Amino acid sequence: MSKLDEFLAGDRHEDVALFLTDEYLDSDGKLRRLGEEVEDGYVLVVDGDDGRSAFSAGTGMDAMEFSRTAMERDGHVHRDLGGGECPEAGEEGEGDDGEDHRTEFIFAFSEAENEEVGGLYARGEVIHAYAHCACGANYSDKWVVDEEEETGVQPGGTEPVHADE
Ligand SMILES: [Zn+2]
Repeated sequence: MSKLDEFLAGDRHEDVALFLTDEYLDSDGKLRRLGEEVEDGYVLVVDGDDGRSAFSAGTGMDAMEFSRTAMERDGHVHRDLGGGECPEAGEEGEGDDGEDHRTEFIFAFSEAENEEVGGLYARGEVIHAYAHCACGANYSDKWVVDEEEETGVQPGGTEPVHADE
């Protein structure tokens, strides 16, 4: 099992996962060596503090500040953290306004199951993912491990499917 698989299975609560496109990887290639190549970039799973510094160094944004902004908007993030669907993109998801809607970076962390908090957290481990689009939009998704299709925003959707429960 790779670190990313373990992270996605909810087994790495101390770590964060970062998706970065080539432009956001450091020039000396350190992050690249730590990461796993995915279709449109790299995903790294690193210790929380290191991850937050790497995120700031790569993107010029504070991870927590970015998360707060992204939380205000719902959008689908791929369950493997290899990209997302910008809520500003058209129905086809391919920017009928001619704008570039590639996902530039994603910051994700997981939380342990927590009966007391209730809702999603009583169902299992929750993955939180915050994405930044090339058009400037920030959005977020969160889902329960092993309920990837029953929770969070689904492909083509704009609202979390668990919201009407
Ligand atoms: Zn966009």
